[in-house]
Amino acid sequence: MCSAYYLIRQGHEVIVIDQSDMKSGASHVNAGYITPSHIIPLSSPGIITKGLKWMFNSASPFYVKPRLDSDFLKWSWAFKKSATQEKVEKAIPIIKEINLLSRDLYEDLKASNEFDFHYERNGLLMLCQTEKALANEWVVGKRSLEAGLSAIRLSAEETKKYEPNIDLNVEGAVYYDCDAHMTPSIFMKNMVDFLSKKGVVFYTNEEVIDIAVSNELIQSIRTENRSISADEYVLATGAWSSHFAKKVGLKIPIQAGKGYRINVDRDTGISTPAILVEAKVAVTPMNGFTRFAGTMEIGGINHKINPKRVNTIADAAENYYKNLSILKEEKSKAACGLRPCSPDGLPFIGKSNKCKNLTIAAGHAMMGWSLGPATGKLVSEIISEQKTSMHIDAFHPDRTFK
Ligand SMILES: Cc1cc2nc3c(=O)[nH]c(=O)nc-3n(C[C@H](O)[C@H](O)[C@H](O)COP(=O)(O)OP(=O)(O)OC[C@H]3O[C@@H](n4cnc5c(N)ncnc54)[C@H](O)[C@@H]3O)c2cc1C
Repeated sequence: MCSAYYLIRQGHEVIVIDQSDMKSGASHVNAGYITPSHIIPLSSPGIITKGLKWMFNSASPFYVKPRLDSDFLKWSWAFKKSATQEKVEKAIPIIKEINLLSRDLYEDLKASNEFDFHYERNGLLMLCQTEKALANEWVVGKRSLEAGLSAIRLSAEETKKYEPNIDLNVEGAVYYDCDAHMTPSIFMKNMVDFLSKKGVVFYTNEEVIDIAVSNELIQSIRTENRSISADEYVLATGAWSSHFAKKVGLKIPIQAGKGYRINVDRDTGISTPAILVEAKVAVTPMNGFTRFAGTMEIGGINHKINPKRVNTIADAAENYYKNLSILKEEKSKAACGLRPCSPDGLPFIGKSNKCKNLTIAAGHAMMGWSLGPATGKLVSEIISEQKTSMHIDAFHPDRTFK
């Protein structure tokens, strides 16, 4: 959507094709965090050991389903290769820069009043129940300070000031004031309405099933209903992108990372977005409801809901917020979405050398909501052959993982 937005601002005519009704999936169920504080990619030292430990626990927050599938095996190898301190240190300034760019663009969008959406700059609490987790979290906090972000370590008593209306069961927290939060479905709906009014054509519930390529150029794409030719194409197919890229001869390693959300449409008293550190659950006070989101399940493309994981998210929330009770009915309405996970935690943004009129915008993993506007802006600059708002070499779709 953000690519379409910035492309029409550059004067391009845009057609959006989506196999869904554009009312569900990752861009609707996410926790709505805008996360400059998330400077450490998922593929970081220690994650492999944790993943192996959690693999045999069907309620764990991070789960990798072992499969004899060559794409999955190659992705796993590239993920392992990326999980080094050296690579994480290299990624930190890049992740920070694109996050700050994107947050600024969200604030410009909000200020433009072109369409309405919920956006609040209220920071993020990393809530910890144990001294060990708090100490570990503060190591990340100090690294964020070094990177120029602000981070504060809070005692249990100090944390209460950020959540005056609900009893917390925590040892303390790390607070980042650089973060913001939104209600994704409001933004998505109002953005689609705005783009439609501006002349963007939407073909929804239409799957792109074939791509005609010759001379390293896409000549046309085909859905069940039509064939479409354009000067330039943008591949923004989230978790489905690997499969799709293959049709044009590209290898874009992306695996689906399933996550769940539970909405509580009552006043919970929660006012500051938080991550429940030990449980890896995200809590967001959205517009009129509170969302609890979590789990990273690398298990292929499917939308099956595992009730054990939903219950684990709810139990964790009830454990950190003493008076909170999530109803059975609320849990039964849980929904899921697929994060498009790249092996190194950086998205793929740019053109492959193998296809001259295709720009990739995929693989944003846990930060795809945050990075929407920056990605859209970069895509529009690439297509309009302008200087990009930041260096994009690190996002190159042809990069290798050694
Ligand atoms: C539970 C959860 C919590 C999250 N929390 C956050 C958060 O707080 N902050 C954050 O920044 N990120 C968060 N994320 C991650 C974020 O939601 C994703 O990275 C982002 O939504 C991905 O956007 P996308 O446009 O790349 O993919 P998607 O939103 O998945 O869109 C891809 C679209 O491509 C369409 N498509 C695929 N194949 C075809 C085809 N052949 N033809 C036509 N259409 C096709 C699909 O229908 C889909 O609509 C979270 C994700 C989850 C699941």
